[in-house]
Amino acid sequence: MIEVKNLTKVYGKKSSRFVALDDVSFGIDDGSTAAIIGKSGSGKSTLMHIMSGLDHPDGGSVIVNSKTLHKLKKSAIDKFRATQMSFIFQAFFVEPNQTCLQNVLLPLEIAGTARTKRKKRAQQALEAVDLAEKASNRAKNLSGGQKQRLAIARAIVNEPKLLFADEPTGNLDSVTGELIINLLFQLNRGLGLTLIIVTHDEDLAARCDMQVHLKDGKVVNLLKKGKK
Ligand code: ADP
Ligand code: MG
Repeated sequence: MIEVKNLTKVYGKKSSRFVALDDVSFGIDDGSTAAIIGKSGSGKSTLMHIMSGLDHPDGGSVIVNSKTLHKLKKSAIDKFRATQMSFIFQAFFVEPNQTCLQNVLLPLEIAGTARTKRKKRAQQALEAVDLAEKASNRAKNLSGGQKQRLAIARAIVNEPKLLFADEPTGNLDSVTGELIINLLFQLNRGLGLTLIIVTHDEDLAARCDMQVHLKDGKVVNLLKKGKK
């Protein structure tokens, strides 16, 4: 369970003071899908950055598995970020000159996964996103949709409990975007990871177990589906 309680975030001071998040509260059940939805500038990315420990709130708290995230030491937050969560962004973060396999091996190397286990884990992640045949192709030669699938393989190879996707289809055509979204939902069900999608797409949000609608940094609507 992730509990967001009375979060406030203020950028700037005095005349440039801007309240990006204003008393935001909601909870997300483990293994569920949540959409953070709102127009550009409504505070979606700010909220995601605070929920993932990348940024600090000015007020309120984020409680993950009964621990208050921002009260942890920096080293503990770093460890939490490295072992429990992953991100996918609108821009496809892949290493263009590396092969697909090398791209997916990288997070395992960083996490210190035993050398003998790395290749199998990386291949399984490539299979999960249907890129196994491209294992030895360089990332720069992939299409946009394939690059995003590779970014997803990199994001899931360490088996995170939480996957944040910030406008993951923003750079894709609608058909390819739909495939990426279907893949994310499939991974949510198959791996049991909690999926948090930041989006301005109402149809996509409606497919999630819950929706947090933001406007000018405030929650204007909180929708939750019945139990699956
Ligand atoms: P969204 O992701 O919904 O488009 P953001 O969370 O990125 O919105 O931004 C919310 C508001 O906060 C915007 O008005 C943005 O200009 C402002 N903002 C974001 N980051 C900063 C920053 N580092 N300094 C000042 N203002 C910021
Ligand atoms: Mg944003």
